[in-house]
Amino acid sequence: MFPQATTSEPSGRRDTPAQLVMMKWVAATMFIVGGCTSATGVLITQTTSQAKVAQGVGAAVLVLIGLVVLVTAPRRRVIEAAMLTSIAILGVSMAMLNPVGMMPFFFLWPIVYAAYFCSTRMLVTAFSLMVVAVGAGVAASPHIATKLDTFEGTVVSVGLMGALVAVMQRRERDLRRELEDAARTDPLTGLLNRRGLGPSLTQHLADAVHAQSSLSLVMLDLDHFKRFNDTHGHLEGDIALQRLAAVLRAEAGPRDLVSRFGGEEFAVVLRRSGPADALAYARGVAARLAREQIDESMRLSVSCGICSADLDPEASVDVLVARADEALYAAKAAGRRRAAWWTADGLVIDGDAFATLRAAA
Ligand code: GH3
Ligand code: MG
Ligand code: MG
Repeated sequence: MFPQATTSEPSGRRDTPAQLVMMKWVAATMFIVGGCTSATGVLITQTTSQAKVAQGVGAAVLVLIGLVVLVTAPRRRVIEAAMLTSIAILGVSMAMLNPVGMMPFFFLWPIVYAAYFCSTRMLVTAFSLMVVAVGAGVAASPHIATKLDTFEGTVVSVGLMGALVAVMQRRERDLRRELEDAARTDPLTGLLNRRGLGPSLTQHLADAVHAQSSLSLVMLDLDHFKRFNDTHGHLEGDIALQRLAAVLRAEAGPRDLVSRFGGEEFAVVLRRSGPADALAYARGVAARLAREQIDESMRLSVSCGICSADLDPEASVDVLVARADEALYAAKAAGRRRAAWWTADGLVIDGDAFATLRAAA
């Protein structure tokens, strides 16, 4: 089954639990390491007791937030709120520390984090907050001599780093998606391949069981396709596969899954369809194929195996596929160019269902 989606990631797609866990661990680590680093500054760098107290409190708050992020369930909103809070804490620290030292440098942490993990909108929010925090911190600090210089240097440097990371992250994400899509797609027909079908079929089956609606799997295999290739060549064979793919798509509903299972075998998942609907689909495919024959010698026909999930709501995807496959082999054995489907009483083979089509073709 697909992992349960929770909230939205930068592109509007859903966060997976693994992504949220990574966000959480990176954020918690940054807070705790940042807090501990800040705590050492209390002892090493700060010259006035007021500054020591400010840095000590800031360090404690950062560690505390890190621990809260660490022990709570990963939630994007909580983590993003913590990240924005850290920017405000850095702004206050900037106003109070003496000397300010490396403090401007630390704005990089939340901004780079937002650039990598958050939406562009959240990044802009974080950056705007940072501009305000740096501006207010610089303005309020009695210890910064070169105020404009510090403000400008911090905002520009951190902003550029954030923009760079955001661009790289989005490029990486787009490339990852392209690879994922390519891995799920059959290049010849543009249909889902077997790898792509697996998770989608699992999800459709779970949805059907949950909604107590029917779902059917139709496995189709071109008849004597080796002979077709031997006669017309593999290029014509490829075109024939593309033709069949177009027919399967044309006969299916917009939310049905049409896939190339492998070689010249295809699998179609029909939502809200019992055995009768699936048989009607198989007949529709056979009829359309027959109608679209251009040349007698190029005639294509298919055999179909059908299994509906209603027969056994407990059936797994593997069982469904195995039974549809078994039905397909029965249809082949019975003479090809026909369908076989499972009923509560066992396997039924369509003795003559495609006969009129055979005559018409
Ligand atoms: P049956 O009716 O029993 O299914 O016979 P068949 O000849 O269709 O089955 P067989 O398994 O003997 O041969 C399948 C053929 O499908 C052989 C293979 O060359 C061809 N094939 C598989 N993938 C492709 C492809 O991508 N392009 C082309 N042109 N042919 C393919
Ligand atoms: Mg075949
Ligand atoms: Mg085959």
